Amino acid sequence: MSDCIFCRIINKEVDATIVYEDDQVVAFNDIYPKAPVHVLIVPRRHIPSLAHVTPEDEPVLGHMMYVARKIAEEQGILESGFRTIINTGRHGGQEIYHLHMHLVGGRPVGPMLVRQ
Ligand code: AMP
Ligand code: ZN
Repeated sequence: MSDCIFCRIINKEVDATIVYEDDQVVAFNDIYPKAPVHVLIVPRRHIPSLAHVTPEDEPVLGHMMYVARKIAEEQGILESGFRTIINTGRHGGQEIYHLHMHLVGGRPVGPMLVRQ
């Protein structure tokens, strides 16, 4: 997907601060961080969103969770805590249609949702 910004980051065609990578996922700092730690964990395979996953994606989805824990430890927020977020689709507020998990922490990140 040459027009996908996250595929281009994965392929090293666009710069990003990569904090972790392996054969299944790449993780890099969010360009507009909302907290002292704000990392995006993305599968190498272009999956548009959580609404598009299939049974064959189950291993990488589990791996993303473990990588979140690993990065949290590396960034010193394992004990203080953190939040993982996957936005899906229009109502979920998804802006980039390459599946990604946000890992945010380094300060109390506030209530999960604001009641409206
Ligand atoms: P979402 O709303 O879940 O789709 O979040 C997309 C996230 O990608 C936002 O937090 C953006 O700040 C972030 N983002 C957009 N472009 C880039 C980029 N080139 N490098 C790093 N993060 C980006
Ligand atoms: Zn992509």
